[in-house]
Amino acid sequence: MSHKVYFIECKQYIKIGFTTNTLKSRLSVIQAHNPFKLRILGFISCDCNRKAPPTLGNRLTCKKEAELHAKFLSNQIQHLHPESEWFEGTKKLRKYIDENADKHE
Ligand SMILES: [Zn+2]
Repeated sequence: MSHKVYFIECKQYIKIGFTTNTLKSRLSVIQAHNPFKLRILGFISCDCNRKAPPTLGNRLTCKKEAELHAKFLSNQIQHLHPESEWFEGTKKLRKYIDENADKHE
């Protein structure tokens, strides 16, 4: 089943996650647990079988998500939770999003 790896911004941080739902509904769930305004920066559509070894946590996951978590691992915000999907919104990450992510569903 196709799914999306998304980039959601909160202040200086960016969450890299994946969803099989619409971005709007995923954003709504994350926003419900967050007091700050969130914004979708973009997404990448993926058709993998979601059986890739994860970079964070221990459940098999989306290959693209695992790849991106690994790519930006040195900027992961891990002091609050080891499996956090929040990353520093570095120039490198923002450039990657600009060059690789779609902006509109
Ligand atoms: Zn995938």
